[in-house]
Amino acid sequence: MTNLRDFLKEIEGKGELVRIGEPLSVRHEIPEALRRFDGGKAVLFESVKEYGGSVVGGVCGTRPRILEGLGVESGELYGHLLEAVRNPTPCDVGDGPVKEVVHDEPRLSDFPILTHFETDPGPYITAGIVYARSPDGSVENVSFHRLLVKDDGRMGIRVVPRHLYRLNQMAREAGLDSLDVSISIGVHPAVYVAAAYPAPFGTSEFEMANTLLNGGLTLTECPHVDALAPADAELVLEGKLRLNETDTEGPFVDLSGTTDVEREQPVIELVGAMHREDYVYEGLLPAGAEHRLLMGLGREVRIWEYVRNVVPTVRGVNMTLGGMGWLHCVVSFEKFREGDPKNVLMAIFAAHPSLKHAWVVDSDIDPYDMEQVEWAIATRFRGDEDLLVIPKVRVSSLDPSSDQEKELGCKVGFDATKPLGREGFERPGIPVSDEVKRILDRYSSEL
Ligand code: MN
Repeated sequence: MTNLRDFLKEIEGKGELVRIGEPLSVRHEIPEALRRFDGGKAVLFESVKEYGGSVVGGVCGTRPRILEGLGVESGELYGHLLEAVRNPTPCDVGDGPVKEVVHDEPRLSDFPILTHFETDPGPYITAGIVYARSPDGSVENVSFHRLLVKDDGRMGIRVVPRHLYRLNQMAREAGLDSLDVSISIGVHPAVYVAAAYPAPFGTSEFEMANTLLNGGLTLTECPHVDALAPADAELVLEGKLRLNETDTEGPFVDLSGTTDVEREQPVIELVGAMHREDYVYEGLLPAGAEHRLLMGLGREVRIWEYVRNVVPTVRGVNMTLGGMGWLHCVVSFEKFREGDPKNVLMAIFAAHPSLKHAWVVDSDIDPYDMEQVEWAIATRFRGDEDLLVIPKVRVSSLDPSSDQEKELGCKVGFDATKPLGREGFERPGIPVSDEVKRILDRYSSEL
């Protein structure tokens, strides 16, 4: 199973997909529905007011669904992702269902692209992953980029100075005036996880995804551009990224839920498209749980790696939803020495320079359950002993309380672990027989 629609069938079987049959508009109405279901079930819009087809959103909107997509348990997740990024698997190249319909002269208004917020300058593609390769073909890259529809033939693309930016520079230095790209929309969660993962430059995120999918990801050559895309994607747009042309992009509602500024950004010209006969367009609500989880996941892996150098047993790392998957982190670990928690806090901040607040808790606390985390702070934290305050330090540009021009702010770490060798911190259980546990387990779905 390597494609979106098989995954949708799987989650629908588990009651994790809601179908909405009433026609809703791509303009605000579908995004508002996604906002209502945010952090819960995925939503399939079977009828789109302006178009014939269907739209899905919120697919990677919960941590358990991402785990399901990757086929791993929570405790195996980080090791699994590290293994995949270190051992990318070259993909087979062939044909596939995305080529059922090929458009030679597509218009962006042919596709049900969503307009989300009242401040949006136009429709935004938010679940599109962009593939490009270096002029000599040696480096491939796949990454998430928001794409603003400017008119029927052009999109504005936000390119932060990372890998696609570097490929643009390489293409410019090679004397080219455009870079061929494919934009894939509606792919398996493992492909989205890989595209969002901070893999090193030179590692193809499609090949990382192929390892995650046990070699099941087949790519296909795009008919109109020199680029590859998943052969079983729902929709692929083919474009030429203009290296000497910019246009305004934004304001966009970013991770924080507030608006990012308008900028001059590169432009992609649409030169072709292909899709399945009855393709499902995939949307991702900006600042929603899915956005935050996909952004935070790669950071969790890095923090996990750093913390494991300081203490041997790490139960879990949670880049919390409330901290927008970017500014707040909880780490649960097994404490051996009294000084461990502050060392762990320093490792966390070193691993993710944008982080603002971090909490460390004992391994009896589930880091993904914020009520348990708050309980640990309430019972195990003392402000005069357990606080680590780091003033005048680089923080995220996404934090409006910081000096955003200089990116200067304050980081705070909270040691909410219990002191070693002191009584009074345990929570007594309730002793019942295995038979009683079995009876109660039968009702667990009612919880
Ligand atoms: Mn990359």
